[in-house]
Amino acid sequence: MAAPKVAVVGAGVVGLSTALCVADAFPACSVAVLAQRFAPSTTSDVAAGMLIPHTAPGTPIHVQKQWFKETFTYLFAISNSAEASEAGIHLVSGWQVFKSTPGEELPFWSDIVLGFRTMSEAELQKFPQHRYGQAFTTLKCDCPPYLLWMEKRLKAKGVQMYTRKVENLWELHSEYNIVVNCAGIGAHQLVGDQQLFPVRGQVLKVHAPWVKNFIRDGDGLTYIYPGISSVTLGGTREKESWSLSPDPSTTKDIFGRCCSLEPSLQAAQEMKVQVGLRPSRASVRLQREVWSQGGAKLLVVHNYGHGSGGFSMHRGTAKEAARLVGECIAALQDSSSRAKL
Ligand code: FAD
Repeated sequence: MAAPKVAVVGAGVVGLSTALCVADAFPACSVAVLAQRFAPSTTSDVAAGMLIPHTAPGTPIHVQKQWFKETFTYLFAISNSAEASEAGIHLVSGWQVFKSTPGEELPFWSDIVLGFRTMSEAELQKFPQHRYGQAFTTLKCDCPPYLLWMEKRLKAKGVQMYTRKVENLWELHSEYNIVVNCAGIGAHQLVGDQQLFPVRGQVLKVHAPWVKNFIRDGDGLTYIYPGISSVTLGGTREKESWSLSPDPSTTKDIFGRCCSLEPSLQAAQEMKVQVGLRPSRASVRLQREVWSQGGAKLLVVHNYGHGSGGFSMHRGTAKEAARLVGECIAALQDSSSRAKL
């Protein structure tokens, strides 16, 4: 049979990393990325890009741990290479602080990040409103550089990029054998997934180059994440809100909360305010399906619904999606050899 044609729908961190894993695993396939929006206009471009996982209730912890470990290991190698600055990947140390000791003192990812430990009393003096804290070193992806770096690698492998809104995955049937759905929150409309909902997040990107350590309140709402060219201040988590317009009173509130954690931010210069919709569901949808219509078949792999953890998990889920694409290729080869008999 001819080399299978694979379309990846979506050019956020999930779509691009999935396309890379598919192109690497199956070099004989022709791979294309189709997306309504590319960097710098995706949800992934709004994210802080920190590797600190959020627990998804519908996915077993050992699976989430495996996805995080694969992502951390992959990005750690990039951070330790000549590619680090172009890819926007760097190590960052800091603190996660709590107003009271959390029920779970050792999160599942504590042995994957580097040097995880309980903060000392002396360190906690920096945070007079907090009683307990964890110090560790993790990785951060700066966006859009990381997305642009992935796009460049994909183009070098011959992967085509098309700006295109897909109304229905069936419309790709005549051009592609396999379609990988990495549409993020767009999957709500694209495949009518009612379990997928937005969790709106508003962040500020400020100029404060003296802030070198990350600070995250354990409630997950307030955070300060220094990147290469700006510091991300957050945030909000508004379930079921589809609004992409920044709210000025929220901007003020975020800035105030961040200044109370890191008073030196009073001198920061505001650069921009951004809003993104986290594609949330109880678990990431990583699934293979066969769609049939009037005797025609379309092989579909879903990889979306990463919620607050798209950066933390992307490489692990991309590898799993590529494995599912491999199963589709095997099914295609099987049906083509049976047709010849
Ligand atoms: P997206 O980036 O939204 O990409 C979806 C792609 O699909 C886009 O290219 C879009 O144009 C395309 N698409 C959609 N529908 C269609 C269609 N019908 N036809 C064609 N193309 C279509 N995660 C972390 O791990 N760490 C963090 O620190 C972090 N911080 C965050 C802060 C904020 C404020 C927000 C909002 C999110 C944050 N996240 C973080 C979560 C992270 O941003 C998401 O999990 C991740 O970006 C999801 O990536 P994605 O590729 O699935 O979706």
